[in-house]
Amino acid sequence: MNSSKIIDGKVVASELRQKIKTLGSDFIESVKSKPGLAVVLVGENPASQVYVRNKILQTKEVGFISYEYKYPENISQEELLNLIKKLNSDLAINGILVQLPLPKHIDSVKVLDMICPSKDVDGFHAINVGKLWTGLDALIPCTPLGCSILIKRELGDISGANAVVIGRSDIVGKPMSSLLLKANASVTIVHSKTKDLESVCSKADILVAAVGVPNMVRSSWVKKGATVIDVGINRIEVDGKKRLVGDVDYENVIGVAGKITPVPGGVGPMTIACLLLNTLNAARAQHKMDAIKLDSLF
Ligand code: NAD
Repeated sequence: MNSSKIIDGKVVASELRQKIKTLGSDFIESVKSKPGLAVVLVGENPASQVYVRNKILQTKEVGFISYEYKYPENISQEELLNLIKKLNSDLAINGILVQLPLPKHIDSVKVLDMICPSKDVDGFHAINVGKLWTGLDALIPCTPLGCSILIKRELGDISGANAVVIGRSDIVGKPMSSLLLKANASVTIVHSKTKDLESVCSKADILVAAVGVPNMVRSSWVKKGATVIDVGINRIEVDGKKRLVGDVDYENVIGVAGKITPVPGGVGPMTIACLLLNTLNAARAQHKMDAIKLDSLF
């Protein structure tokens, strides 16, 4: 029976972009300059090209300036690091995003480490990671930030809730866990080496799946009424047709979960909206203004 509430990330992201546009125009009026986001793309990865195109489009739609830096696959690490240095010192640029993955001959850690933490709108720099875990104001990775906004909107206070995060990556699983902890949930992180995933997941009030394994989370893994946030984006082929599915077996979990995000149309749209929020907050911080309070956004 289909009784779950479907959390529509497209609608929430569109509302968020509208608020960012309004807050952005107040900011522009007060400092007389537009927030600028530099997007760096290396190579021809088709998925990266789509992501970058959408990021650029939405940056312009909220009234910010998008600076595009596209390089061939064979750019040297030194050239890329020099570009980042230049962007770090360019006052027109408030945020820098380097689209991952980078080609194998480039050390991504070195490149991300070169980005000035105050312009690190992806929130991947160790300074921002440390600030997030110690409760200081930080630029927070966009996808977990988007998940947090959805959770907060849907559930309000999650103090004492039992949250399980599947996946421990630096860009989703770990920051997601930190945000849930910050909201006073009891958090368990499970991963590829965890024993009896099903038993741990089935006790979760909030279950976040960030794995990259299509349809992995079965209905028996989900507690009746739980909130299920599916971060996974997996391209599979069914009957010769390409389909996008999450890490959650959506068709079967939908009758068990209380609330669930679909794929596509759940977490995905929130990621870019949060990138714009981070760009605005980076610009505000560079003008000595406080970050926008999340509670004021909905
Ligand atoms: P990752 O590969 O870096 O990390 C995956 C994590 O899942 C690892 O920590 C690993 O331990 C765990 N894992 C792998 N197999 C497992 C298994 N069988 N059981 C339990 N845990 C297992 O991936 P990521 O970058 O964190 O991304 C995860 C998923 O989220 C991918 O599908 C990715 O495409 C998607 N994603 C979506 C967005 C978005 O905007 N919606 C953004 C980032 C990532």
